[in-house]
Amino acid sequence: MTDTTPETTDWTRVRYDVPVERVARITLARPEAANAQDYLMLTELNQAFDRAIADEDIRVIVLAADGKHFSSGHDLGEINPDMDALPTIGTQCHFDAPGAEGYMAREAEMYIGLCWRWRNLSKPTIASVQGKVIAGGLMLVWPMDLIVCSDDATFSDPVVALGVNGHEYFVHPYEAGARLAKDMLFTGRAIGAHEALQHGMVNRVVARDDLESETLALASHIARRPMFGLTLAKQSVNNSQEAMGMYTALQSAFGLHHVAHSHNRLKFDGWFIDPEGPQIIRDEA
Ligand code: ZN
Repeated sequence: MTDTTPETTDWTRVRYDVPVERVARITLARPEAANAQDYLMLTELNQAFDRAIADEDIRVIVLAADGKHFSSGHDLGEINPDMDALPTIGTQCHFDAPGAEGYMAREAEMYIGLCWRWRNLSKPTIASVQGKVIAGGLMLVWPMDLIVCSDDATFSDPVVALGVNGHEYFVHPYEAGARLAKDMLFTGRAIGAHEALQHGMVNRVVARDDLESETLALASHIARRPMFGLTLAKQSVNNSQEAMGMYTALQSAFGLHHVAHSHNRLKFDGWFIDPEGPQIIRDEA
């Protein structure tokens, strides 16, 4: 693979470095907005992953975040950004088509398309997580292979209050187990780091001050192993989840997600979500 990504200095939403041998670290760098994800951040993130994959000296990729919170989710202030300005990587098209067509294509490209691609990167990935992870924030954490979080980390997907089934990368039952997935979705509550650990949703819980060092120590430990062995181990686990129907379940939920968006648009004068939902979420935050 040829590295065609722009120089790191061209990126405004992410940073890239190699903090220890054989380990690339990509850092969400929009702390002033709690690392809310606009399309530009998602695009730069994808380019940064490609850079790490293309570098033969890199065996493990860490995804970290600046600031108090890992990510507050999608940047809802961004309305229909210009898709022509972005290098798309999937096979979707007609992003500005009316009805369900254009919006579904956008979310297929920018949300589940990217998440599924990152989940299948050929090198092990580790999310290094602190503070709040809300809705779309989970869509960056869950595609990673391992999750190390600080004891102040919380995880929530409160978007049922917006009249949809959950965020677009609907793998909740695979990541949290069916029972906890329903609890998270029905109540919208944030689960803490230790509850997440108890349910196997994260691998390690560490003190906030130790998050970086513990993550890099784990990455370095893994990076001593041969690249191909790691790639094959990852692929074998991923294939096992797919044998359990993960991809089909994801696509099924995405279809229902767009039934919900279309329902809301008809019912609420063009809104993709129930307009009373954000207040419910704010009241319970
Ligand atoms: Zn959506």
